[in-house]
Amino acid sequence: MKIHKVVVIGSGTMGSGIAAHLCNANISVTLLDLKTEISEKARDKIFNSRPPLLLDKSKINNIKVGNINDDLNVLKNADWIVEAVVERIDIKHNIYEKIFRKRKPGAIVSSNTSSIPIKILSKNLTDDQKKDFCITHFFNPVRYMGLLEIVKNENNDLEKINYLKKFCEDLLGKGVIICNDTPGFLGNRVGVYAMQIAMTEAFKMKLTVEEADAIFGRPMGIPKTGVFGLYDLIGIDLMVDVLKSFIKELSESDPFQVVAKEIPLVKKLIDTGYTGRKGKGGFYRINKTGKKKILETLNLETNQYLPSKKINIQSDKIDLKNLINRKDKYGKYAWSVISKIIKYASSLVPTVTDKFNNIDEAMRLGFNWAKGPFEMLEEIGVNNFFEKIENFKNNSFLENLYKTKDENFYGERQKYTDIETLGKIKKKAIKLDKNESAEIYRFKDFNIVEFTTKANALDYNSMDCLKKATDKPLIIINESMQFSAGVNLNYVMDFAKQKDFKSVEKFIKYFQEICKHLKYCENPVISAPSGLVLGGGFEVLVQSNFVTSHTNIVMGLVETIVGLIPAGGGCKEMLWRWSQTDEAKKDPDYAPLKVFEIIGYAKTVTSPVEAEPLKFLKPEDKKIMNRNSLLPEARLILERNKNFIPPTECKFKLSGEKVREKMLNSLQKLYEEKKILDHGLEVGKKLAYVLSGGKTDLNKELSEDDLYNLELEAFMELIQTVKTQERIKHTLETGKPLIN
Ligand code: NAD
Repeated sequence: MKIHKVVVIGSGTMGSGIAAHLCNANISVTLLDLKTEISEKARDKIFNSRPPLLLDKSKINNIKVGNINDDLNVLKNADWIVEAVVERIDIKHNIYEKIFRKRKPGAIVSSNTSSIPIKILSKNLTDDQKKDFCITHFFNPVRYMGLLEIVKNENNDLEKINYLKKFCEDLLGKGVIICNDTPGFLGNRVGVYAMQIAMTEAFKMKLTVEEADAIFGRPMGIPKTGVFGLYDLIGIDLMVDVLKSFIKELSESDPFQVVAKEIPLVKKLIDTGYTGRKGKGGFYRINKTGKKKILETLNLETNQYLPSKKINIQSDKIDLKNLINRKDKYGKYAWSVISKIIKYASSLVPTVTDKFNNIDEAMRLGFNWAKGPFEMLEEIGVNNFFEKIENFKNNSFLENLYKTKDENFYGERQKYTDIETLGKIKKKAIKLDKNESAEIYRFKDFNIVEFTTKANALDYNSMDCLKKATDKPLIIINESMQFSAGVNLNYVMDFAKQKDFKSVEKFIKYFQEICKHLKYCENPVISAPSGLVLGGGFEVLVQSNFVTSHTNIVMGLVETIVGLIPAGGGCKEMLWRWSQTDEAKKDPDYAPLKVFEIIGYAKTVTSPVEAEPLKFLKPEDKKIMNRNSLLPEARLILERNKNFIPPTECKFKLSGEKVREKMLNSLQKLYEEKKILDHGLEVGKKLAYVLSGGKTDLNKELSEDDLYNLELEAFMELIQTVKTQERIKHTLETGKPLIN
């Protein structure tokens, strides 16, 4: 069995996402809907999606479209047919009848249903057809969510299921978890329960929406949308439909029933059009008065909207032990929510899954949790947990654990895959060192550095760990979503606020020193990024010797947005890369002008396909669909480079004033067109000074250190300006750049 051709039926949110992702994997795909116009519109939506569903927009026409009346013959050649039509059993049954009449013998047919059991979906199929029918439950947005649940039952041909799993793992890059045919499978069963617990406990304990979201968010290793924010994002009406289906499918004694009951306030919101972000608002709404947009939050008691309040719970890091032991209402809420999630998740073992680790991984891949319920239990500590928990009768997992009180109950991680992932290796590796910002692991003959700050922002400590870890070949990689969002601007601003610019300078110099060291030290350094690779994070990557990059990245040098310029070698390295081109060999101003445009406009890319033309990534850098494979691929590079020889230092010839003039002319034009304002002009001039080589000409040769010095000088001048500081402050406070 081989999958070469796929047909997706239903071109809504999920069908179009699945088709786009198949296109990303270069699989031939046809997308059908009731009418061709609908699937054509879906293709337009794919093209314009944000974040983009396609790695390479120019491939859009590789997705063929059609309708289920005229084009059903495409089914005859399909190796896999994915049904992603509306969640209505009559419509799905009707489609299956058509599919099975046309499909070629042995082709896999799967449904993307989120709630209908296989036994009901496949009710009208013959035994032979049932062998090839399963559920492939993708998560939205398909390109970005790691989880794919393949649901099978006793009728399935297991060999085929395993083949499909491997295909989706290798080619689509999914974390594939095989599930039994139980309601909500694994991810939604636990994820939706967790949301309901977080919501109902907030009502019970009289927490505000902001307070609940502040706890059931970052401090618990859960995305910052929290519970109410997530409700708004998914759609409050859709959540109610999901709950109804759980109520119908689950036994009356299931604890889910209690928390899935209708909440009068939620009903009122839906009835009045407050269905979340897609409607008039939900638990949060944006109130537009004139030009101003104010974020407001629903008061759960008075049902009135009031301006949102920021809740500071003074806990930036995930520290569950501390969180649940707090004596205030936040501690009580956290314990109540976490303990109930652990109790519910463990009650599903072994009936729903015999591998409890699969539940954790489903929460990680499908809900972006940093840790699943069992890892939370491990972190809290088994003894600690049992000292606090009151009742766990009829929960065989907890009863057994209570007997052994084994703190090391967890065992292996990521059992769903054979890939030797970072998660698995970390468990076997020696933790050599750690500080507030990073950790160093030693495994066999190489080191791993994992950044550990919020969005993996970099500071002195992060660079310290990088330096210490170069005594062996080094792989820089992390389990959390982002490689690094850049230098920690809070760290820099703390010095700037006290006018301690000496310390800022010391830090930037150290940052440069370490980046240079990564490039030239005797051991190879490999960066293995995914997610954000911005600013300083990109400078670490671009000065590593090798890269294995995930296909989901947001990469670029974005410093000018906050009124700065890259000063960790970003300008220098981009100049070097562009000066290696044929054009640059003919025209010495070609490279500086190109880089001036890329950095000046703070260009970012969202995939390796887009990264290569800008030279953020090199053709030889590895591009990988499955995030789990980043580490094994990096290890292969180490394997191949046993006799690694560091590169020789680069030399630059730049025309100085001559090319600077061209840059200043284009700046002046932008200024006159009001595309940039006073400070933008100022930043542009500094960037021009660096990229033109400062006081130089084509007869002189500049070293890398000369360029590092130019970067440092420009950075130090800009960070001391009020305008740059205002920009940084605004970005830190709002998460958005200051446009003026
Ligand atoms: P959607 O409403 O966005 O799209 C459904 C599409 O099916 C529409 O384009 C509609 O025109 C088409 N359709 C309806 N009847 C059809 C027919 N007879 N033949 C061909 N096309 C037909 O729905 P969605 O959100 O994409 O959900 C699709 C499936 O995926 C559902 O089973 C849903 O439960 C499941 N699911 C949804 C999500 C999600 O987040 N939206 C996540 C996981 C699973």
